[in-house]
Amino acid sequence: MARTALITGANRGIGHQLAGMLATTGWDVLIGARDLAKGKSAVARLRKATGGRLKAVELDVTSDASVATAAQKLRDGAIQIDALVNNAGVYGAARGPDGVALTLDTNFFGPLRVTLGMLLLLRDGATITNVTSGLGSLSNLDAEHRRRLSDPTLTRDALVELMRAFVRDGGTGWGTDAYGVSKAALNALTRLLARELAPRNIRVNATCPGWVRTEMGGRGAPRSVEEGARSVLFGVTAAETGGIFRDGARIAP
Ligand code: NAP
Repeated sequence: MARTALITGANRGIGHQLAGMLATTGWDVLIGARDLAKGKSAVARLRKATGGRLKAVELDVTSDASVATAAQKLRDGAIQIDALVNNAGVYGAARGPDGVALTLDTNFFGPLRVTLGMLLLLRDGATITNVTSGLGSLSNLDAEHRRRLSDPTLTRDALVELMRAFVRDGGTGWGTDAYGVSKAALNALTRLLARELAPRNIRVNATCPGWVRTEMGGRGAPRSVEEGARSVLFGVTAAETGGIFRDGARIAP
């Protein structure tokens, strides 16, 4: 039986490349896109390139309603998910308080919202891959926040409250910008969800693509989109849980 992957933000960039790789290797791929027309174009492109089975799903990771509607549609189609890849992200939107809120809402609350929204559709034994960044390394944070994010007694509710407070404070006081904080928090969330979902044998990992030539990474980035997507792909079939990986090797949180 074919396995099914849902990738958010898969209409372009690393998510799009990963979708092609999975479709080529026999996966059924759901292309999450906030603009359905862009999702459908990506599906047409990738079907032609791979001959694989793909379908577009309208999914804006910043919207509870959009996530709920997408989950309902999948449920109506009796679709279950073997791999969820929380790939959608924004960078450089963080100019002023609105940018801080958008960055956190997309890069941190987005993966949380999508994960919780899709939880009942995930098969036991599924994987969740959160696409992170080296800019989210704890070493970029000031000592106090580094300590709070790595505290082994940190709960998911406390982490959510920390991120709400960061947004309320205008994204200041953590020693790095909103993007770095969003990915550092995503790494912490990965560890917490891994623990929560272990009873269902759902493995949750964060994978970093490296600095990649996409719209986000720019033309000067050293890595190709293939290299970036391959690094993310590791999470889709990982046997481990709760780790942060680049190119299949563990990296420090
Ligand atoms: P990209 O080329 O800018 O693509 C970003 C994707 O996310 C697009 O499909 C975009 O959709 C989608 N997206 C943005 N906001 C969304 C929302 N609210 N709902 C649904 N989709 C949304 O970026 P990329 O380089 O492929 O990055 C993919 C992931 O890798 C991100 O999480 C990023 O932080 C991470 N990453 C990238 C690099 C790098 O060097 N490129 C390095 C480290 C980590 P639209 O087309 O509708 O805007």
